[in-house]
Amino acid sequence: MEKLVSLAKRRGFVFQSSEIYGGLGSVWDYGPLGVELKRNLIERWWRSVVQEREDIEGMESAILMHPKVWEASGHVASFTDPLVDCRQCKKRFRADDERIKGKPGEESAQCPVCGSKGTLTDPRMFNLMFRTFMGPVEDAAAQVFLRPETAQGSYVNFLNVMQASRQKIPFGIAQVGKAFRNEITPGNFIFRTREFEQMEMQYFVKPGEDEEWFEYWHEERMRWHYDLGIDPDKLRYHPHGPDELAHYAKRAEDIQYHFPFGWQEYEGIHNRTDFDLSRHQEYSGKKLQYVDPATKEHFTPYVVETALGVGRLFLVVMADAYREEEVEGATRIVLGLHPSIAPVKVGIFPLVKKDGMPELARNIYKELQKLFAVFYDDGGSIGRRYRRQDEAGTPFGVTVDGQSMTDSTVTIRDRDTLKQERVSVDQLATYLTERLQP
Ligand code: ATP
Repeated sequence: MEKLVSLAKRRGFVFQSSEIYGGLGSVWDYGPLGVELKRNLIERWWRSVVQEREDIEGMESAILMHPKVWEASGHVASFTDPLVDCRQCKKRFRADDERIKGKPGEESAQCPVCGSKGTLTDPRMFNLMFRTFMGPVEDAAAQVFLRPETAQGSYVNFLNVMQASRQKIPFGIAQVGKAFRNEITPGNFIFRTREFEQMEMQYFVKPGEDEEWFEYWHEERMRWHYDLGIDPDKLRYHPHGPDELAHYAKRAEDIQYHFPFGWQEYEGIHNRTDFDLSRHQEYSGKKLQYVDPATKEHFTPYVVETALGVGRLFLVVMADAYREEEVEGATRIVLGLHPSIAPVKVGIFPLVKKDGMPELARNIYKELQKLFAVFYDDGGSIGRRYRRQDEAGTPFGVTVDGQSMTDSTVTIRDRDTLKQERVSVDQLATYLTERLQP
């Protein structure tokens, strides 16, 4: 994990937020390569969930919503974690923190940070939503929350989207957007952060058909992760037992990845029943119902949700792609990212900075730039340049050498096999396009 964090910083994937001020707890920034990887992940999800489907519409709701939304959703009352404080060192922990020895509140309990005994308070409930104030007066009437999930924006827009897009049930609403949770034991790099992005899809179905649709999305989402090239041996389902189920859920299953720190969730599939729509109906006084055009039957749809964190998926693909290999007596670090999400698709290198090689390489760069994310590099030995692109996860390297100047061919180096092929400059775009198919 440390190696991954160090690579992420060195190559410009992820930086700590406000680093020059000592950082801000569990908030991270995405650097030049990170932002490309993140956008590619979102793009891949959006394409498969929204653009390639007739039954799912995209939308984007605002982060700030009417405060009643969070009363209706149950977040004001139940989005809480039990916490304990250490009176000695002032640190705060989740009551279920495995590092705590003994039962918090009792004399024998020991603080995992300062080691003091008997200084941990009884567990107290702590709401995970961030609050802020809207308008000029800082009083409770103007208090609003930063959303802890995108889902509620889709529920309150259920009728708007359905009517505007003329969808019939079953259909879905998908969103990508920021969410905020004042997590107490954040950590493990970008695994659990206080500000993060979600890709969530709410699928509205007829009550009674919810279980079938749950099965469908359960299969479909795992297939998506396989297609992204994630090691199947490191993927598994984790069904929620009755004690783990959220207040709104009838059934829930996580997709877990075997991270360097153990098996952990990164996507959830939830049968949320008609809980959310019914509650919004009750709290807003507006009918959020569906009328079946054939039978004229009225009902409140059930929702099957798929909820994936962008940052967690980012960590999964980075951890899964990271490898170290011995090549000619030296260690090579490679990010074997799926080509469709690699931040840079092709590195372009003149072997030396003379004899017309930089000019030809620049021309190739300009042409390929129209098709893919490409990177031009003429600094340092060719071996060093290849290694830098290996660490960035760039699938192909194109090198202009002496021979290129006489026969208009270049070498193409494959990141994974390290094989080099000579291809004519005219054929380069076709060659790469075929190999960079999603
Ligand atoms: P956890 O149990 O890890 O707190 P959760 O069950 O509360 O997660 P959901 O509410 O189901 O998570 O959110 C769906 C997805 O959003 C998660 O699978 C994860 O990928 C992402 N996510 C949730 N909380 C965070 C966070 N604090 N930081 C990064 N991603 C998060």
